[in-house]
Amino acid sequence: MKIVLMGPPGAGKGTQAKSISLRYSIPHISTGDIFRKNISNNTELGLKAKSFIENGDLVPDEITIALLLDRLNQEDCLDGFLLDGFPRSIGQAEALDKYLLERKQHLDAVLLITVPSEFIIDRMTGRRSCISCGASYHIRYNPPFTSGKCDICGCDIIQRKDDTEEVLRERLEVYQSQTRPLIDYYKSMGILKEVDGTQSINAVFENMTRILGSAYNK
Ligand code: ADP
Ligand code: AMP
Repeated sequence: MKIVLMGPPGAGKGTQAKSISLRYSIPHISTGDIFRKNISNNTELGLKAKSFIENGDLVPDEITIALLLDRLNQEDCLDGFLLDGFPRSIGQAEALDKYLLERKQHLDAVLLITVPSEFIIDRMTGRRSCISCGASYHIRYNPPFTSGKCDICGCDIIQRKDDTEEVLRERLEVYQSQTRPLIDYYKSMGILKEVDGTQSINAVFENMTRILGSAYNK
């Protein structure tokens, strides 16, 4: 199963990706998580990406596409994958299509999580993230069992530097101008499925599995 999760920042992509990855036994690939790991390890890639991320801008396509295709070439992606936060531009979507076409593969579904803008600031400023596995929590809607510690791996959870209102405004503008055009791109391919992201975390997950069940058994 090859799936893309789309939606504005705060839609719930990372939250759902963890559960979908477990349910379908496919790797969860978050370009944001990969960049953050590289930043905390002070790698060359991390140094290149850092200022773009801190300003809420996209890391340039040439860097991001190379990183993602390299990840897709790893063995655990042979039977499928779940992309969270990629593609974010038409150039990235075209590069992904080209990669899949060359391997006679295709995406099974692009799940678009829709959330009105009034939900987003509240979700993002209350978000807390695991420094190790990237799991996403919320101080009110999805707190961890033990305060400050990740339920999954036990590591510390923190507020991301780019989850401030100021950076968020830029991230939302970038979503509108560069990522939103992908909705029409995938609609025209007939693989875009919309999910109402305002429901509870569990209800969104149930809807997604229903949609994926029918997309995969077509
Ligand atoms: P994204 O990966 O799309 O940026 P996240 O999955 O990190 O978004 O979710 C953003 C914030 O909203 C997190 O704090 C998360 O706990 C919370 N959240 C996610 N889904 C829901 C939901 N359905 N209802 C309420 N809060 C949610
Ligand atoms: P995320 O964790 O998905 O919210 O991503 C955090 C930040 O990482 C984004 O605001 C971008 O700066 C960068 N990033 C993640 N994925 C991509 C991508 N596909 N293209 C460009 N930049 C990205």
